[in-house]
Amino acid sequence: MKRREFLKTAGIMGGLGITTSPLLVSCSKEKLINDNNIKDSYQTQLLVVGGGPSGVCAAIAAGRMGIRTLLVDSGNCLGGMGTKGLIGPFMTSYDAAGETMIIRGLFEETVNRLIAKGAALHPKDIRQGTEFTAWINVGHDHCTPFDPEILKIVYEQMCKEANVKILYNSSFVKAIVSGRRIKGAVLFTPSGLESVQADWVIDATGNGSVAADAGVNYTFGDPENKRVQPASLFFRINNVDTDRLVADVVPHLPEFRRVNGVSYRCLHWRVAEAEAAGEWDLARKSVNMFRSVEKDQWVINCSRIHNVDPTDAENLTDAETEGRRQVQELMNFFHKYVPGGEHATLMGTGSTMGIRESRHILGDYVLPVQSLIDGTIPDDLVLLSANSIDVHGAQGGPAGGLYMPIKKNMYGLPYRCLVPKDIEGLHITGRCISADSAAAGAVRVMPPAMGLGQASGIAAALCIKNGTTASKVDYADIHKELSRQNVYLI
Ligand SMILES: Cc1cc2nc3c(=O)[nH]c(=O)nc-3n(C[C@H](O)[C@H](O)[C@H](O)COP(=O)(O)OP(=O)(O)OC[C@H]3O[C@@H](n4cnc5c(N)ncnc54)[C@H](O)[C@@H]3O)c2cc1C
Repeated sequence: MKRREFLKTAGIMGGLGITTSPLLVSCSKEKLINDNNIKDSYQTQLLVVGGGPSGVCAAIAAGRMGIRTLLVDSGNCLGGMGTKGLIGPFMTSYDAAGETMIIRGLFEETVNRLIAKGAALHPKDIRQGTEFTAWINVGHDHCTPFDPEILKIVYEQMCKEANVKILYNSSFVKAIVSGRRIKGAVLFTPSGLESVQADWVIDATGNGSVAADAGVNYTFGDPENKRVQPASLFFRINNVDTDRLVADVVPHLPEFRRVNGVSYRCLHWRVAEAEAAGEWDLARKSVNMFRSVEKDQWVINCSRIHNVDPTDAENLTDAETEGRRQVQELMNFFHKYVPGGEHATLMGTGSTMGIRESRHILGDYVLPVQSLIDGTIPDDLVLLSANSIDVHGAQGGPAGGLYMPIKKNMYGLPYRCLVPKDIEGLHITGRCISADSAAAGAVRVMPPAMGLGQASGIAAALCIKNGTTASKVDYADIHKELSRQNVYLI
């Protein structure tokens, strides 16, 4: 039942003399959100909204510079898509030649801490075209398999060491804006509505919820062809006989190909068998599956749900339900059709839908995809990356995608993409930065999201310390601090 139909039904019920909830009929938005029922709970120098890979790194970077930092998340752990979403591996942190690790800083530190706990494999040892990359050969060199449960712990330890205060189960509701300056936010927490007064705010919500609410303009998906990249619900399985699975895949590697935008890659021959038996109705005709740290564990990126709007609860609920239906179908597929998958166990589905794209917040500069293709290194460089331009569903087909090669060994990401237009006291980072849809398809993955988070935390800390604005902060200071924090720059 759609929202409008629900309201209509509620009206009919009223007509029949059935009373609707007093909350539904009497709580107007104005009445619900007024000064009297919002507790003034927190005062901080920096508020980071969103504890995904980007927000965590923003908070740690600022915390290490002595800034009193509050990191809030609507969930109950840090890591965003990397933990709640079960997404992995970390995409490449190397240059296009596969020779040098160019995303370092907090990303490299996180990886090393995971390795010390036996919870990641170093990217230097992970090459494309292997079971760790779903045997994909393009753009997947030197990925990093990791354990999401241990990532939650590592991030919490790093925040604690940087004196970052974490607040879970706290959802951003409204920006507190005075004139053109953001002054904090109202949160919905287990104790009701609470306000945070902050000298500076970083929007790391992925969806750009803070900036949008504060009145900053944005585009949604790709405005030209009116689409967002499809969403996928990730899941993890274990108890896989990996030797038998690999033995089934390797002889088929020469057949891996793309036809009319659909990839026929891993297990496409088994998918054909399932399809012939009427047991496959997914858009993808192969299974993107990545071996994880433990030999019997695999990360599955195969479900596909189109036109998901993560800013609409009803739409998102339908997508989550459809995602889990697709997971059931895939588990049946592993048990019945995949050598080595007969006894696979579902370890878990993502506790959040994997959203590849939503809002792109308008900043001082909109990163164009051409600058990535051309390998442009901007004057206000904050991060080097070589992640390929990976736009799922770009060709409009049910499963199509677009990989655009970059012409140089790497490209640079400018500070200006982190500075939202027409507002003071705010930085944006992670998936929602100011970029066109195709450019966002490259920089949305976790290593660049973490690097951009670190840069935004450093910039915010400098703005607070120097009493300046996001547009006027001295780039030389940002560069100096990035270098001090082990970020690889040229
Ligand atoms: C299907 C899919 C496959 C992917 N595959 C890979 C891959 O293989 N490798 C890779 O490196 N990357 C991959 N990515 C990309 C990557 O996971 C994300 O783009 C990345 O996590 C973005 O980081 P972020 O911190 O910006 O946002 P997120 O990871 O989305 O984190 C945002 C955080 O903000 C919180 N939040 C949101 N709204 C609110 C609110 N109102 N109040 C409080 N908190 C809020 C959320 O709870 C979440 O913790 C994939 C993404 C998807 C969707």
